[in-house]
Amino acid sequence: AHSGEVGVFVRIRPTANFADDLIELNICHKRDSRKSHDSKKSQLSCWSFRLEGVLQDVSQEEFYARVCRRVVLGALDGYNGTVMCFGQTGAGKTYTITGSTESYKQRGIIPRALQEVFQEVEKRTEHAFSVYLSYLEIYNETLVDLLSPRRCSPHPSPHSMVVMEEPGRGVFIRGLSLHLVHSEEEALNLLFEGEMNRIIGSHALNRNSSRSHCIFTVHIESRSRTLSDAKYITSKLNLVDLAGSERLGKTGSEGQMLKEAVYINKSLSFLEQAILALADRRRDHVPFRQSKLTHALKDSLGGNCNTVLVANIYGEAAQIEETLSTLRFASRMRCVRTDPAVNEHMDP
Ligand code: ADP
Repeated sequence: AHSGEVGVFVRIRPTANFADDLIELNICHKRDSRKSHDSKKSQLSCWSFRLEGVLQDVSQEEFYARVCRRVVLGALDGYNGTVMCFGQTGAGKTYTITGSTESYKQRGIIPRALQEVFQEVEKRTEHAFSVYLSYLEIYNETLVDLLSPRRCSPHPSPHSMVVMEEPGRGVFIRGLSLHLVHSEEEALNLLFEGEMNRIIGSHALNRNSSRSHCIFTVHIESRSRTLSDAKYITSKLNLVDLAGSERLGKTGSEGQMLKEAVYINKSLSFLEQAILALADRRRDHVPFRQSKLTHALKDSLGGNCNTVLVANIYGEAAQIEETLSTLRFASRMRCVRTDPAVNEHMDP
C-alpha cells in the first residue's frame, strides 16, 4: 500500500490567480505584446505538467494534512520519509518547511510534524519510542551542525563532519550532534535554536541563508513493550529546505555569489541525476556520492522511503522563466518509484 511514485506537489504563493487543476497544472500567461508590431494581439502561452496536486490558497494546516501527514505517520511505523521544498528564492520554501513565526496558524511542516510525532508517541503505548533530532546545513559543500555550539564560530572546520555508511546502520553523518527529546516543547526549543544558529551563522559569514540546503531530521527508534524480543525499528524523517534554485547570469553574479550559485546548481543537478537514476530500474548504480546533499539523503530519497517533493512557485507571470524551470524539475521527479520497507534491527 505504501509503494508508489515520489509525490510531487506544487504550492503557489498567494497573489496567483491561475486555474487550479488537481491533476494537471496549466499555467498561462500573456506574452508582452508591446514587443511585437501588432499591438492589438497578445499571444497566449501555455504549458502543461503532470503532478500529484496543485495547492493554491491552502492554509498551513491543510497543506500539512494533504501532503505531509502520511509521511510523518509512516516514519512512526518505521519507514524513512523525506519532504523537500524546491524553488527559487522567495517562492515560499521556508514558509512551507518551518513557517512564519508571526502566528501559531502559520506554523510550517516541522513544528506540525513534531506535534504529531509526540501525540502518536503518547497514543501508541504498546511501543517505547526514542526521538532524536539533528539539523544539518550544507553550504558550498561544507557541512554545518546547526545544533552544535561550535557552529557559531565564523570558521567551522569543514573536516569535522563526514557522511558515512555502515551496514545495518545505513547513512549517517559522523560528527553531527543528535539530541534526544522527550516532548514537543523540547523539540521546538531545539528547532528555534537551530533557526537562530542559521541566522547568526549566515550573518557571521556574510552570506544569505537562502544559499544553503538545510536538513532537519527526526530520528525515531521504537521497540515493542509487549514482545520482549531483541527487535527494534528505526526510521528517519528528513524535512529539507533546499537552496534557492534560481539560475546564474541574470544579474551578472561574481565573487562569492557566483561561487555559491555554482555549488547550488551543481548539487541540485546531482539531486536530479540521483533521482532519475533511481527511476531507471535497469541502472544499478545511482550517483549518490557526487554531492553532500545526495549522499546525506541516500537512504531517504527513493527506494526504502516515502518521498514528497514540493515545488514552490510564484504566481506572477513575471517569474515565468524560473517557474517553468522549477516545474520541469518537479515533473521529471515524478517518475521515481518508491518501495518503502520497515527498517528492522536486532540487538547484538
Ligand atoms: P524562500 O524560502 O523560498 O526563499 P520564503 O518562505 O522566505 O521563501 O517566502 C518569502 C515570503 O513570502 C515570506 O515573507 C513568506 O512569509 C511569504 N510567503 C511565502 N509563501 C506564503 C504563503 N503560502 N502564504 C503566505 N505567505 C507566504
